[in-house]
Amino acid sequence: MLPFIRSDLVQLTSYTPHPNSTDGKPITSVIDRLDTNECPYDLPSELKQKLAWIYQETIETNRYPDGGHAVLKEAIAEYVNQSANLRQGTIAPKQISVGNGSDELIRSLLIATCLGGEGSVLVANPTFSMYGILAETLKIPVITIERNSEFAIDWVAAQTAIETTNNPPIRVVFVVHPNSPTGNALTAAELDWLRSLPQDILVVIDEAYFEFSQTSVVSELSQKPNWVVLRTFSKAFRLAALRVGYAIASLEITTILEKVRLPYNLPSFSQVAALLALQQRDLLLQFIPLICEERTKLAQALSQYSALKVNNSAANFVYVQINHPVRANQLLADLAQQLRCSGTIVRLLSGGLRITVGSPAENSRTLTRLEAAVKNWDAFS
Ligand SMILES: *Cc1c(COP(=O)(O)O)cnc(C)c1O
Repeated sequence: MLPFIRSDLVQLTSYTPHPNSTDGKPITSVIDRLDTNECPYDLPSELKQKLAWIYQETIETNRYPDGGHAVLKEAIAEYVNQSANLRQGTIAPKQISVGNGSDELIRSLLIATCLGGEGSVLVANPTFSMYGILAETLKIPVITIERNSEFAIDWVAAQTAIETTNNPPIRVVFVVHPNSPTGNALTAAELDWLRSLPQDILVVIDEAYFEFSQTSVVSELSQKPNWVVLRTFSKAFRLAALRVGYAIASLEITTILEKVRLPYNLPSFSQVAALLALQQRDLLLQFIPLICEERTKLAQALSQYSALKVNNSAANFVYVQINHPVRANQLLADLAQQLRCSGTIVRLLSGGLRITVGSPAENSRTLTRLEAAVKNWDAFS
């Protein structure tokens, strides 16, 4: 080990999507990447051409990008208000902070709240792993609690954790709405619990899948100075390659986020791409109903297997568990491996598989490959 590196980082596991080898076994040439919840469709080629033209005509690559993201923030605020049926201007451009993916904003929030022994964070597992990973890279303690059988947060345990953690105290609660990997949106009871949290705790509500779920807490932000909503262009807006996310919060919070970020965190190209995506959102988001329909079909088909337990999803993925008293995790790992060998990559988590809803062709291949894998199981025959 390098003597100048913090010893705790040696143990840390990084986020690793798309494992491209399967223990030495070859993968077939068709790879359906259904492990990272992207939209299955690339930007339409007329938009790519438009973007190429904008790049050619308006971006001077020798100049730094707009470090204040002024134009983009204005467009985002307009979209946020419109999509939450708020009066234009309810959320002002200054209440937006833009990040290099929402991952950057998660890190900025951690830096702004907990760094240097100031606080711990609370997460309810299973949930998005980046909260914990980024906290650990900053040596911020992560307190984890469980969810119930419907994957709702055990808020009695959460409340106890908040009351009993004091060295350092819990300063941030992270929730995803709807949750990844399980797909369930926050229930009325969970929302009431979040509303009851004291103002010295920051509540981060990650709405990465908002365009699929159409559920949002944005309309409550004006009453909640301790809430932040995170969104991203990586999922419904099809811009995962360009890394754009945003936070919506009170001016006090976004001012701090602007202070702690890197000055030129977002390349000019990413800024114009996000702007174009917003201008063309009717075109881009028209696939959302199709993806939601495909999700329902996929979930129904998977539910036909008595060995599988499929959770209700409000997002663009489904979470599948295996009903087996002792070997569930082994069977899950086998299933993920067999799917991968036949050309479908899904995300294996401890406890379940998360399968992204792809194009109709991809989803039908998922089902065919899963059928072939499950047929060989003796555990259920
Ligand atoms: C995909 C995802 C994000 C998006 O991250 P980016 O850095 O914007 O690509 C954020 N939160 C959750 C829960 C996600 O699933």
